[in-house]
Amino acid sequence: MANIAFIGLGNMGGYMSANLVKAQHKVRGFDLVADLRAAAEREGVEIAASARDAVKDAEVVITMLPQGQHVLSVWRDIIEAVPAGALMIDCSTIDVASAREAHGIAAARGLDVVDAPVSGGTAGAKAATLTLMVGGTEQAVSRARPILEKVGSKVVHCGGAGLGQAAKICNNMMAGINMVAASEGFALAERLGLSAQALFDVVSTSSGQSTAVTGFCPVPGLVERSVSNNDYKPGFALALMLKDLKLAQSAAASVGATSPLGALAVQLYALHALAGQDGKDFSHIYTMIRGAGK
Ligand code: NAD
Repeated sequence: MANIAFIGLGNMGGYMSANLVKAQHKVRGFDLVADLRAAAEREGVEIAASARDAVKDAEVVITMLPQGQHVLSVWRDIIEAVPAGALMIDCSTIDVASAREAHGIAAARGLDVVDAPVSGGTAGAKAATLTLMVGGTEQAVSRARPILEKVGSKVVHCGGAGLGQAAKICNNMMAGINMVAASEGFALAERLGLSAQALFDVVSTSSGQSTAVTGFCPVPGLVERSVSNNDYKPGFALALMLKDLKLAQSAAASVGATSPLGALAVQLYALHALAGQDGKDFSHIYTMIRGAGK
């Protein structure tokens, strides 16, 4: 079993580090927030005094931080303290350019490195059923795989440096757009006098089908596990969807790709966030599109 340093013990990292402990790894963790350090300690994570201190005997270093700037600043801070031969894994969702910069920081010290963002939310993190999208060399990914399989149930090698992040933002852009499409369909149906149940019964086996309909249905009462039944308590917070849609737009701009629906989705979710709804699940966008209903 490996000595693992885990930096960023928040909503996702808290569960992921606890699952690595359950898998018999020795985990030394650090977060800026004292309460989160205490919570992780209760799960069996040994708490370090700093990020640098966390990595000092590590064979594997995992970061689960908010954004690219946090990942780069932590990696620059710790890199000289990481033991030779260690494997560096970043599981945060960050921009492709920063992910590639992080690869460069590790590679400059001769360390194996992967970007490995996750999908599946806090429920997936808790149950260790995340999907991990991994970018890096064959060698680095084959070293990371047995570790990642302890926090998730599916590990996909997407290609070289940054391509895990590329897969993540393409997926989430599609999910964000699909949720708007599903919301528009249900809102139009209501105004036409078509019941949400009847539309669901048709769409769930027709060409309008998507996970936005059959998994995260924005209309309450149609899909048992949908958070719309629980006052849209996330789930996947609208603020995080907005973040990922913006990452997709900047990635598109950087390679000259066009993504008009992604751009429109940014504006729609941003408007709803401005209305104070960024803490709701992203499927709450339905309530804005529906308006006051009939
Ligand atoms: P979070 O804000 O709950 O956790 C991030 C943690 O990083 C915080 O506890 C923060 O204190 C800590 N941190 C920040 N800077 C630090 C530093 N310099 N040193 C040590 N700790 C530091 O966020 P989260 O929900 O756990 O998400 C983490 C990442 O995973 C994000 O990139 C997010 O987009 C992505 N993600 C989240 C979800 C989700 O449903 N929450 C799903 C998929 C992916």
